[in-house]
Amino acid sequence: MIDMEERIMIENGTRLDGRRFDEVRPIKIEVGVLRNAVGSAYVEWGKNKVIAAAFGPREVHPRHQQSPIKAIVRCNYNMAAFSVPDRKRPGPDRRSSEISKVISDALTGQVFVERFPRTAVDVFVEVLEASAGTRCVALTASSLALADAGIPMRGLLVGCAAGKINGEVVLDLGKEEDNYGEADLPVGIEPMTGEISLMQMDGHFTREEFDKALGLITEASKGIHEMMIEALKRRYSEV
Ligand code: ADP
Repeated sequence: MIDMEERIMIENGTRLDGRRFDEVRPIKIEVGVLRNAVGSAYVEWGKNKVIAAAFGPREVHPRHQQSPIKAIVRCNYNMAAFSVPDRKRPGPDRRSSEISKVISDALTGQVFVERFPRTAVDVFVEVLEASAGTRCVALTASSLALADAGIPMRGLLVGCAAGKINGEVVLDLGKEEDNYGEADLPVGIEPMTGEISLMQMDGHFTREEFDKALGLITEASKGIHEMMIEALKRRYSEV
């Protein structure tokens, strides 16, 4: 068994992939990539490749899920069998159900659901390549797909994580950092208001480390938010 304490992931203040502590992996965003979806987005984030497709507001099936006072927002997160080095068993599992739920809940808080009673807003997320932090990438892509679909929302959600490696709080863990790190804190945040709609935690932070991690996420989310706005603008200046 690997001794986690001995895994050196920081050398001379630099991380394995050369990043600073407060640096996210490179991000590339494209909106409106799918012809048959109402809205869609493709996000590359480090070695993650994620596509999201949004539909609705539309009729709810199964009907018993419909609400007379608001729209329901559903997310289906799926990792392709070829998305990881060892083939992943296709189909839903506990992890994908959990991620689908936390993303649905986060998005529900942003969509003006009361405007569309008895309807459903659906987002399908396909993870084509996974390399740590896919729920954050999925949330970011979902939010963009909903915006592209013209679904009225309070704001765009950014998914971003911070973690702890070799005792240091760092932004956006890469795969190896995620495997051998001491903590991971994925967060969904609306950077204009600072409102947090998703927060999960693996491992352990002291209160001070937690505050530092959240500070790094809050700061980074502003830059990512700008990239999202730019991607939406590009999409709509093309047509
Ligand atoms: P997140 O992707 O949001 O960080 P996890 O912490 O559950 O969620 O997963 C971390 C990483 O582990 C994923 O991004 C992916 O690279 C890898 N992973 C997840 N599930 C599997 C699986 N079934 N097989 C192989 N690798 C997986």
